[in-house]
Amino acid sequence: AIAAPGSPPAAQRRASRALAVGSVAVGGGAPVSVQSMTTTPTSDVEATLRQIAELTAAGCQIVRVAVPSQDDADALPEIAAKSGIPVVADIHFQPGYVFAAIDAGCAAVRVNPGNIRKFDDQVREIAQAASAAGVPIRIGVNAGSLDQRLLAKYGKATPAALVESALWECSLFEEHGFTDLKISVKHHDPRVMVAAYRELAGKCDYPLHLGVTEAGPLFQGTIKSAVAFGVLLAEGIGDTIRVSLSAPPVEEVKVGIGILESLGLRPRRLEIVSCPSCGRAQVDVYKLAEQVTAAFEGFPVPLRVAVMGCVVNGPGEAREADLGVSSGNGKGQIFVKGEIVRTVPESQIVEALLEEAMSHEWPVRSE
Ligand code: SF4
Repeated sequence: AIAAPGSPPAAQRRASRALAVGSVAVGGGAPVSVQSMTTTPTSDVEATLRQIAELTAAGCQIVRVAVPSQDDADALPEIAAKSGIPVVADIHFQPGYVFAAIDAGCAAVRVNPGNIRKFDDQVREIAQAASAAGVPIRIGVNAGSLDQRLLAKYGKATPAALVESALWECSLFEEHGFTDLKISVKHHDPRVMVAAYRELAGKCDYPLHLGVTEAGPLFQGTIKSAVAFGVLLAEGIGDTIRVSLSAPPVEEVKVGIGILESLGLRPRRLEIVSCPSCGRAQVDVYKLAEQVTAAFEGFPVPLRVAVMGCVVNGPGEAREADLGVSSGNGKGQIFVKGEIVRTVPESQIVEALLEEAMSHEWPVRSE
């Protein structure tokens, strides 16, 4: 992790086995990756590939597609071949689709062997096929789909029940010598989810895929995921993340990346340090912060840009910013590294910030 200046050293990452999900390393100390899932019918190859391209452009590193029907399974070869990022096939019950996904060139499969055993026990054959193809498997235990036996034993989806279920599912592959596994134990309540992952982290060394399931719409889901992932990642737990939102999947990717950036687990691309505004503000801070964010989106250097509503505390409060503005009297004081370099009319603030950004050399920040 990238430590903030003056902060205690970042938590040691939990030691986990290294897996390769196509070109993306997961576990074994690899950077925490961001995943999402398509919402298009997988059988609609064109729409699915379009959405995968949008997700890839947003920074998604691994994409999962649902495979509930034969038509979806039939679409996998083209999707896997044309996707710019590794594709994970999500399968619930049908062993035939697992073999199809492996043959199609999918980078991984999410399947719970407990489900496969109930219908047509081909766990051994799946383990052999996945092993031969070098395809890892994710065991995905959710509160809603907990095994009846464990539900009866624990009464509900407690952290211990989720963990026992996941490790039992793993054992069904382990008995065939297959250990290229990663695990998720998702729950809609961040407190249960955090407790489950903590317990799981101490009981195995498989890479962990973090997720709060049914987290909700954008605002609520972002908060739940940020809280739960934040606790775990700050403790060094978690190898890959998927934010689940009732919102377009690109939003999941943005939130996931934002969480990793906030924790210093990947370098920030752009940070807007804007004040919350108060009675001293002499400019519409919200609007100006939005305009500056839009203007700097995609700027090639990861800058920290301050937007301050008044000159009283402006440059002082934002001393660690690369550049910024503090407003007053219809003007903007533009400062670079805490020093005021010029004053411009309010209407020219954004333009002046961009000019200053482009006319300076910016060292690569280490925090
Ligand atoms: Fe208030 Fe000025 Fe601080 Fe913004 S920078 S919160 S306007 S005192």
